[in-house]
Amino acid sequence: MEFETLLNKVLEEPKIEDCCKLLEKANSFERARKLLDLASKIRDEKVGRILKLDSFVYPVKKCVMEKYCIYCSNYVEKLRLEPLSLEEFRTAIDFIKDCGMKRVTLEGGYNPDNSKIPNFIVMAKKSGLETILDIYPISQSELRAFKALGVSEIYSSLEIPDSKLFSHFKPEESFEKRLELAKEVCRNKIGLSSTIMIGLPNTGYEIWIKGLFMLREFECLKHCAISSFNPVYGTPLQNAEPLSPVSVAKFVAIARILLPDKDISACGSVGLQSLPLMLLAGANRAYLGAYVCRARTPKGFAEELEDVFKPDYEAKVRNGLVFANPSEAVERICRDFGFEVG
Ligand code: SF4
Repeated sequence: MEFETLLNKVLEEPKIEDCCKLLEKANSFERARKLLDLASKIRDEKVGRILKLDSFVYPVKKCVMEKYCIYCSNYVEKLRLEPLSLEEFRTAIDFIKDCGMKRVTLEGGYNPDNSKIPNFIVMAKKSGLETILDIYPISQSELRAFKALGVSEIYSSLEIPDSKLFSHFKPEESFEKRLELAKEVCRNKIGLSSTIMIGLPNTGYEIWIKGLFMLREFECLKHCAISSFNPVYGTPLQNAEPLSPVSVAKFVAIARILLPDKDISACGSVGLQSLPLMLLAGANRAYLGAYVCRARTPKGFAEELEDVFKPDYEAKVRNGLVFANPSEAVERICRDFGFEVG
């Protein structure tokens, strides 16, 4: 089948098999460009040429898994981070607000203790920020309480949309429980955010696309975050190769075709430098707003930071926390590209 015929078929009557074929065939400059152009046009028509910037605070909870997910930095003991105290969280929110951000995501690892979360939500809401929760697990009563406090989106990430593979990469978690939380988020009429992981070894188009088809069933879905596997030293997957930014962009384009009016972002192995490519592929959201996280070293993330070239944006370490604001660099990209930042 001609590439354009396949593209139209996926657009009009999408099937997992055809989406896989489309990605396989989008392997020349002309075909990849056709796929990205279509996705970009759909984004312009359905959600507009506006980039929604997300800011975040990490971690609001410490991950307390007995068996950590095998791709995660928490797998490596020295990389595990202590959660922010209430006072530190207040400083973080003040910084994010001062940077002119509109929304903040409270991010944390697996931990059944959500006792500090209501206070965090109240602080974030009081400062006028749209507040999003990316924590797990959440009980039904907590879900209702978080909604009453004004949370606008809650994550329940399908991540690896296959029960068996999910348990392989996340030995202590259950895919079915993730699905149940996503349904509960919808029953409570809260916006659903969900991450699909791409690029993990022994996973491929079929599984990733199956995740997008599953998300199409959730009418409260607001945001699909595509997280491209980023190998972490010290984990069992440290030697695996991440996907190229072009591969991620092509998957973003498929996500835009399948979820035309939803927010779509890409993260993980793709960062600020890949933002233009993600926008060309139909993305309209990015975790590139101001952020505050616990510092891993006195320099923030690593000891070996080069001091030769001026970085894209500054990350300052104060009292054990990293304060960073990529939003000005994002605005420069968007200005050059005719995108608004919202
Ligand atoms: S639950 Fe989340 S934070 Fe904890 S190990 Fe798994 S991916 Fe990492």
